[in-house]
This record gives sequence, C-alpha cells and structure tokens, in this order.
Amino acid sequence: MTGHKTAVIALGGNAITQPDIEDTIANQFANTRTSLDGVVQLAREGYNLVMSHGNGPQVGNAILRVELARDKAPILPLGVCVADTEGGMGYMIAQSLRNRLRAEGIHRPVVTIITQMLVDPRDPAIDNPTKYIGQFYTEDEAQKFTTARGWRMKEDGDRGWRRVVPSPMPYHTIEAETIKTLVSAGAIVIAGGGGGIPVYIDKNGDYEGIDAVIDKDLASAVIGAEIGAEILSILTDVDRVAINYGQPDQKDLGRVTLSEIKKYHAEGHFPPGSMGPKIDAAIKFLEDGGEMVAITSLNNAGKAIHGEAGTRIVPD
Ligand code: ADP
Ligand code: MG
Repeated sequence: MTGHKTAVIALGGNAITQPDIEDTIANQFANTRTSLDGVVQLAREGYNLVMSHGNGPQVGNAILRVELARDKAPILPLGVCVADTEGGMGYMIAQSLRNRLRAEGIHRPVVTIITQMLVDPRDPAIDNPTKYIGQFYTEDEAQKFTTARGWRMKEDGDRGWRRVVPSPMPYHTIEAETIKTLVSAGAIVIAGGGGGIPVYIDKNGDYEGIDAVIDKDLASAVIGAEIGAEILSILTDVDRVAINYGQPDQKDLGRVTLSEIKKYHAEGHFPPGSMGPKIDAAIKFLEDGGEMVAITSLNNAGKAIHGEAGTRIVPD
C-alpha cells in the first residue's frame, strides 16, 4: 500500500517453539497464533508488512527424519530441508494470520515466498562452520557421520556432539523484486523463513545450493534493505537489549543511536549466536538506509514501533 511505511518483522524461534512446551504441530499452531498479535496490530494500522521467522528446531527435526529414513527414502540436502521448513512453517503462519485477520475484519492477502539468499562462495565463513544444527550425538556416533556423510562435527558444550555448518553473510535476495511488488499491492509477505536457502552463482552463472544456513536476522535486514523497508522489528524473548547483560550492573537500552550501538558491540556486549547477529542485522539495515530497528519481545511489537517499548536503534 503506497504512502504507508514498510516493516520487516522477524519472529524468533521461541515465538513458534517454546522450550518448555511439547513440540507438537498443534502446539506450534497455538504458539504461532499468539505470536501474531503484534503483526495483526500493525496490519490494522496499515503498515506494509514482511514477516520472517526462525526454523532451528524445525530444521533439526527435518534432518532427523531424513537420517531415520535413510534406507527407505532419498537423502535430502540441507538446502532442501530449509526449503521444506520454510514451506511448512510458512503455511502455518499464513493460515494462522489469515484466520486472525478474518476475525478482525482486516482484508489483506497473505502469501509465503520460499526465499533464496545469495551468498559469496569465497565468504571465509564457508570454510569455518560455526552454526550447530540438529541432534546431539556421542563422540562415536559423530565420528560415523563424519566418515559416512562428510559432516563436520563439533562438541557443543557438555551436551554432546553436533553437526556444524557454515553461516555465510547473505548479500542479495533472489525474490526481492517479487516481494516488493506483492508488498506494494498490500499483501503481507512471509519471506526469508529460517534465513532463506543459501545459494551461490557457479562458474556457468547458474544458481547452486550450498550446505549452509543463514541467520534469519541478517536475512531479514538484507530483505528489508532491498525492498526499501523503513523499519526492521526483531521479536525475541527479551523486552530490551541490555549492556552488561546478566550482570548486577545490567542496563536495558531504550532509544540508542547507530554509533552508540556500534560502540557497545565493539565492547563485546552482544554474544555471537544470540544478540550478536541481531545487532549486526540492525547495523546493516540502518547503514543501508533503514529508519529504525526495534528489538523487543513479541508482546511489545506494536508499542516498540511507536517508540513506547523495547530497544529502538536509530540513525545518528
Ligand atoms: P531468537 O530465537 O529470538 O533469535 P536468541 O536466543 O537467538 O533468540 O537471542 C535472544 C537471546 O539473547 C535472549 O534470550 C537473551 O538471553 C540473549 N542475550 C544475549 N546478550 C544479550 C543482551 N546484551 N541483551 C539482551 N539479551 C541478550
Ligand atoms: Mg537467534
């Protein structure tokens, strides 16, 4: 819809799977429904909207199914598992959102785009896998996967061994133009689920998949920048970003500028794997021309965009 601001809303993994609730599809639907309050409010206010979402637990289960069925059904590469979860979760979110919008008398189409993100095959991250995915295994089992499947396995804390895959930086959304067209026609577009499927351009100029995953917050920043979104809203399980997080002198941040957040980041307040990528995404989005990044909990999605809650990061 022209004249309205465009917001990309990134839903954290906790929005759809909660650690303390049994991970059934019925529960995933129930969690999805409640996670949509903020999006529904913004839809009512006329924002142009793109939604992205995490897929950590879901892609872990998809890989587990492939392994358990490996003598009976063809093995699926990681990219296809990511695409499958983008489709399945996109369906759940789209259906839940349509039901909510109908109940509220809001007439907006909803569509899920299976999104591919371009990465650079020379990205140093590709030779340095850091992202744990899937199940925990014993050291012996881990060794077998390395031999049989070529997986890189690493110890993840004291809970056991897991597969590690690269998490390269995305730099272009293959479907950006399509997403932009749909958004300007008023559709709420679910895109970049699970960070999207990483692809690169091979020596013949063709797209080719790669065994890697993309951080969903970074993917959301790239999608937002490419469609000209003004706002990036990252919804997770904390109300605000903090400095000295978890320490007696913890200080929650309200409105901060880009250079302030960069300074805090350089001081090491935002660990890799949790708050770090959200801050990287915020910096990228603002440096590419975004007007505001809100990082907050699901419940505060609407308020944060209005400057009444959460952490808001703005250009200097
Ligand atoms: P999501 O699934 O939403 O991406 P993550 O677990 O990746 O969530 O990141 C959110 C988590 O980051 C919070 O639950 C919090 O424990 C953690 N965190 C780490 N550092 C900070 C910080 N400086 N301020 C706020 N939260 C932080
Ligand atoms: Mg995360």
